[in-house]
Amino acid sequence: MQHVKCLIIGSGPAGYTAAIYASRANLQPVLIEGPQLGGQLTTTTEVENFPGYPDGVEPFQMMDEFKRQAERFGTVMVSGIVTKVDLNASPKQIWVEDELAYKADSVIIATGASAKYLGLPSEQKYKGAGVSACATCDGFFYRNKTVAVVGGGDTACEEAQYLANLCKKVYLIVRKPFLRASVIMQQRVMNNPKIEVLFEHNTVTLTGEGKVQGADLVYRKGEIDEHMVHIDIDGFFLAIGHHPNTQLLRDQVALNEEGYIVVKNGAQQCYRPDGQVLDGVFAAGDCADPVYRQAVVAAGSGAKAAIEADKYLKTI
Ligand code: NDP
Repeated sequence: MQHVKCLIIGSGPAGYTAAIYASRANLQPVLIEGPQLGGQLTTTTEVENFPGYPDGVEPFQMMDEFKRQAERFGTVMVSGIVTKVDLNASPKQIWVEDELAYKADSVIIATGASAKYLGLPSEQKYKGAGVSACATCDGFFYRNKTVAVVGGGDTACEEAQYLANLCKKVYLIVRKPFLRASVIMQQRVMNNPKIEVLFEHNTVTLTGEGKVQGADLVYRKGEIDEHMVHIDIDGFFLAIGHHPNTQLLRDQVALNEEGYIVVKNGAQQCYRPDGQVLDGVFAAGDCADPVYRQAVVAAGSGAKAAIEADKYLKTI
């Protein structure tokens, strides 16, 4: 078992940025890459909103550049999945693939979040070819086209409005006869002439030759007036919520009701479930951010987490 000063869990923008800062501070970090190398961003087609890439960048290329930058200053990348942690032990203990692999004086958690999908086989088939879970990331590719957004909450309403500014038409597919979103968001959606709300519709499958070209929906499934509806669309956006990847941390770190890690405003510090500061443990990126969920924000919080880890290590 290896004893390290700083162990980082996760290889998205938050984890890699934490690694760049931690390695430049001579913390000789080890980064465990996790199940999705490069993080959520790698499920999108192109990144156009990360500063420094005026012509846009392919997500795998961008994440590879993050990784190489961290390696340049000495971060050790480990491919594997963290299966257990003991963050109350001193030093902290980390199991990789069920084996106790590291002792660490500080830990930066950057495990990200995952968008929820409906679970249709066709969603997988068209991932990156018309299926997206981030309007802010991918909406631009659907300028003057027709898209559908699934969901009836604030995210779905916000994404539908965002897309309505770019697209010819937006369908909002809602499974219930009403929207769950806040009243003001509902009003904006209902008053937007480009948005057509399809209440009581559920998506059955996506169709198209090599990319999304349509969706088959069922109206009022199980009711006497049940019938199928087909819509022609170029893009299909999921907005049915995200779940933070924090299952591993339950019982050790304070999480909010939705499972996001609670961090001290501005300092990425983690807490124990009883509210006491959890010394030497910091969180960054989407696992601790239910609001912004942007790569550039995640990267910024990764930098902060590493700076805080460095400060902490000087005190022990
Ligand atoms: P929510 O959980 O609020 O809403 C999820 C929506 O997706 C619901 O309408 C739900 O339907 C629907 N849904 C879930 N599963 C399925 C499914 N399998 N098939 C079809 N529809 C499904 O998530 P949000 O991401 O919208 O919001 C999360 C939190 O963030 C909320 O507290 C929200 O208020 C907040 N938020 C606030 C914003 C703002 O204030 N500007 C912007 C974005 C989010 P049903 O209603 O039937 O359960």
